[in-house]
Amino acid sequence: MGIKENKEQIFNEIQRACEKKNRSSKAVNLIAVTKYVSNETTKDAVSAGVEHIGENRIEGLLSKKDFLKDLPVKWHFIGTLQTRKVKDVIEHVDYIHSLDRISLASEIQKRANKTISCFVQVNVAEEDSKHGLPVKDVVAFVDNLKDYDRIKVVGLMTMAPFTDDESLIRNVFSTLKQLQLKIQKLEMVHAPCTELSMGMSNDFSIAVEEGATFIRIGTSLVGKEF
Ligand SMILES: *Cc1c(COP(=O)(O)O)cnc(C)c1O
Repeated sequence: MGIKENKEQIFNEIQRACEKKNRSSKAVNLIAVTKYVSNETTKDAVSAGVEHIGENRIEGLLSKKDFLKDLPVKWHFIGTLQTRKVKDVIEHVDYIHSLDRISLASEIQKRANKTISCFVQVNVAEEDSKHGLPVKDVVAFVDNLKDYDRIKVVGLMTMAPFTDDESLIRNVFSTLKQLQLKIQKLEMVHAPCTELSMGMSNDFSIAVEEGATFIRIGTSLVGKEF
């Protein structure tokens, strides 16, 4: 199947999940994760109507951005970001999904020449293999970010455990939603926290049912070439 067909199928699934929960599907943004595909395939995705591109490696993001030249897409950095590499990518991204420590916030503050929209990454299931803050530390962390005026906390991001246990996945996503509501109640100017980045190829329907506003889809949208 082509990217266009994949995208239609994903949109149908988003629609179904939204109807089930009385949400508007307009609130759900699709990020095409292009880490397993070429520059050409990434361009095909944009031709198919994709408006957001996500990469977890700096080299991949820079190469695709260069190849796509001035096509109107938003660039999302979704992977672990090493502090010393912030300077290489900061002027090329619209969103960073992996803010999880103050040292990274300091470096973003130092290197950015505009406000960067950031998601605070949360390791809801507290898996050793994943980055992100444990839930209990997130409110204090977000509060500390008020001193960094180049950082706007647009939302929270998480990755669910890789499992067939749907209730476990759902629980992770709904926990992130609860945490978002808690932060929103604090009405911090630097942290509107209106967005939730959650859901990948295998679990995005559950994520949308639980309130995702950005889903990050690789394999089932653009495929896997390497
Ligand atoms: C690779 C990746 C995705 C997309 O994964 P798929 O299962 O291929 O949809 C989403 N988010 C992050 C952070 C990733 O690294």
